[in-house]
Amino acid sequence: MKVAVVGAGAMGSLFGALLAEAGNEVWLNDVWPEHVQTINRNGLEIERAGRVRKVGVHAVTEGREIGKAELVIVFVKSNQTKAAAEIAGPLAGNRGMVLTLQNGMGNADIISEVVEPSLVLAGTTSHGATLLGPGSIRHAGVGPTTIGVWNRTEEGFERACRIADLFNEAGIECEAVQDVRIPVWNKLLINVGINAITALTGIRNGEILDLGTTKNLSRSAVEEAMNVAQARGINVREDMVDHVFAVARATALNRSSMGQDVDNRRRTEISAINGFIVREAESLGLETPVNQTLTGLIETLESHY
Ligand code: NAD
Repeated sequence: MKVAVVGAGAMGSLFGALLAEAGNEVWLNDVWPEHVQTINRNGLEIERAGRVRKVGVHAVTEGREIGKAELVIVFVKSNQTKAAAEIAGPLAGNRGMVLTLQNGMGNADIISEVVEPSLVLAGTTSHGATLLGPGSIRHAGVGPTTIGVWNRTEEGFERACRIADLFNEAGIECEAVQDVRIPVWNKLLINVGINAITALTGIRNGEILDLGTTKNLSRSAVEEAMNVAQARGINVREDMVDHVFAVARATALNRSSMGQDVDNRRRTEISAINGFIVREAESLGLETPVNQTLTGLIETLESHY
C-alpha cells in the first residue's frame, strides 16, 4: 500500500519505518529539512533495546511531492493538526483514508473538516518513541494499537479492519473497533490525570503518587473529565482514577510528553487535553475548576518561555 505520514517525528518515523519494512511504499513528510535530508541520505536510524537498524524510506518537506496515497497517517503534535490536515487532504484525495493516532481530542474533527468524514480513522497506540536527532529515533515501548472510523458506519469499520490487517502484517499489533471514541476518551483521561501536573511540577509520572495532595489533584482532574464524558454519553471505564494511578506507577520513571515539551520550551498539547475538557464542560454547563486551573497555568508557562 502507498502510505504517507504527515509529521515524521518520533512516532511518525516509527510507524512509517515499520510499514516500510513490511514492504509498503512509505513517504514521510516533515517540515524539518535536516531530518528529511538525513533520512534520504542515510536512511532512518531506529534504536530498539540497544540495537540500531536502518530503514530506507522516502522523505519530503513538501507533501505535494508524494502524489496520492491510499493511507495518510497524521502524527504531528495536536497544535499542528490543522496545518497537517491541509496537507493530508490533497494526499488522500477522494478515496484515501486519513488516520490520526495523536494524543488529545479534536484531531479527528479537525481532519474531518478537510477530508470526507467517512474516510477519517482515529485511534490510540501504546507504542512509545523518542526523537534522538535528525534521521534518528528510539523505539522506546511496544504495546497495542486500536483504531476505528471516527464517524461510525459499517463501511468505515471494514476500512478500519483493512488498516488493522496492514498494521498487524507490519508487526504493529492492532485491533479495529466499532466505536473508537471510547478508547480515545479513555486515553485522553489518562493524559488529563498525568500530563499537566507533571509538566507544571517537574516530577516524573510515578511521583504523582508520592503525596496525597498530588494524587488528589490528579483524581479531581480525572473525575471532572469523567463527568464530561458521561454527559457526552461516552462510557469511560468506571475505575478510571485507579487506572490512571496504575499507569503512573507502570511508567513511574518516565517524564510525560507534556513534561518534555515544557522542559524543552515547546508548545504543549494542553489545548487538546485538559483544555478540551474545559471547553466541552462549558458547552455542557458543567464546572471543571481543576482542569481550568491546570490549563491556565500551562498556558501561562508557555507564554513566558
Ligand atoms: P514529535 O514532536 O517527535 O513529531 C512531530 C513532527 O511533526 C516533528 O518532526 C515536526 O517537525 C513535524 N511537524 C510539525 N508541523 C508539521 C507540519 N505542518 N507538517 C509536517 N510536519 C510537521 O512528536 P511525537 O512524539 O511523534 O508525537 C506525535 C503525536 O503522537 C502527538 O500527538 C503525541 O502526543 C502522540 N503520541 C506520542 C507518543 C510518543 O511516545 N512519542 C506515544 C503516543 C502518542
